[in-house]
Amino acid sequence: MRFSTIAVHVGQRPDPQTGAVCVPVTLTSTFAMEGIGQLRGGYEYARSDNPSRHALEVSIAALEGAKYALAFASGQAASTAVLDLLQPNDEIVATPNVYGGTYRLFHNIYNKYNIKINVARDTTAEAINESLTQKTVLVWGESPSNPLLQLFDIAETAERIGTFRNQYGTKPLLVIDNTFPSPAFQNPLSLGADIVTHSCTKYIGGHSDVIAGAVAVNDDAVYEKMKFYQNAAGAVLAPFSCFLLQRGIRTLPLRMKKHEENAYKISEFLRGNAAVEEVFFPGFADFPRHELVAKQMNGLPGMVSFKIHGGIDNVKKFFANLNLIILAESLGGPESLVCHPATMTHAALPENERNKIGITDNLVRISLGIEDHEDLIDDLRNALKTITK
Ligand SMILES: *Cc1c(COP(=O)(O)O)cnc(C)c1O
Repeated sequence: MRFSTIAVHVGQRPDPQTGAVCVPVTLTSTFAMEGIGQLRGGYEYARSDNPSRHALEVSIAALEGAKYALAFASGQAASTAVLDLLQPNDEIVATPNVYGGTYRLFHNIYNKYNIKINVARDTTAEAINESLTQKTVLVWGESPSNPLLQLFDIAETAERIGTFRNQYGTKPLLVIDNTFPSPAFQNPLSLGADIVTHSCTKYIGGHSDVIAGAVAVNDDAVYEKMKFYQNAAGAVLAPFSCFLLQRGIRTLPLRMKKHEENAYKISEFLRGNAAVEEVFFPGFADFPRHELVAKQMNGLPGMVSFKIHGGIDNVKKFFANLNLIILAESLGGPESLVCHPATMTHAALPENERNKIGITDNLVRISLGIEDHEDLIDDLRNALKTITK
């Protein structure tokens, strides 16, 4: 099956008992047993597993071309399942620009287990490879990254770190947060990554109405550890949220095409606007490592970042004069959203860290929805006019 067919059918076949075309939302906390150790329908207690979550996990695994997927109550909960693979004193190598919440998880939660983060000097496979130490167990990356959309070569990185052996005699596991491209536009496992994480809150859900996360993996032993963690720690996704994600998944390929189209149109517009200092969009032929878009992706998500001339006051003026586009955190929904990474998504980073990686006070991130691009351009032009005057 091809991707759009998978999105509609895998994990979402008619219910064998009733013929219901949509997967029923199974609202029960527990399941009746036949006798001691004898389950009736394969389920025992809904935290451990339940039909709604099982169906969703089958869907997500298929979208990522993975053997297994696990669903969690948020993208952050999915990340903790991966980080639980670490022992105290282990180390993570991270690409320079990761989601602010991931940074916070590393620095404010896992630091108490003395887990150290080595941030690579840039996103090249050499730089990532040079950051490895005997203690490195995970290499964590985003491509395109949040919010600067930096790209790194997943296949080359997987190959380079694949020959390295740490103190346990194992190779570091390559973890890709695939939230931005979504499975429609990038499948890291097929490029040699070991673990994929998602904030399903974004494109997979796609309707700005649910908080959810997932991991996808091929290795049996890694899966068993994270499956154990999912049940033992308990940050599981509720059945109704599973239903919402499966509903979103059916239109994922269609939605991504429109998000992409809008990103190309709006990035071009922004580049030609006098109030805009710089535009970050991997679709530009002169964007750093632009060739990776064709090499490892099937398309680009609706994400564009840009710097406004002047400082924070001009950014405030710009936000205040938008009529259609909404100022809000998050991304990947049908409605276009703008955010200010320095004070919103990346507020967890100290100011000098932020400036060092380019998340300056005049940086704006926009998540293009699926509206008509002409209306988005009218709104942006109107709000930017207040700055140029
Ligand atoms: C939103 C986001 C997360 C966190 O996901 P939640 O569902 O909000 O917990 C992780 N990574 C990226 C890239 C994100 O955009």
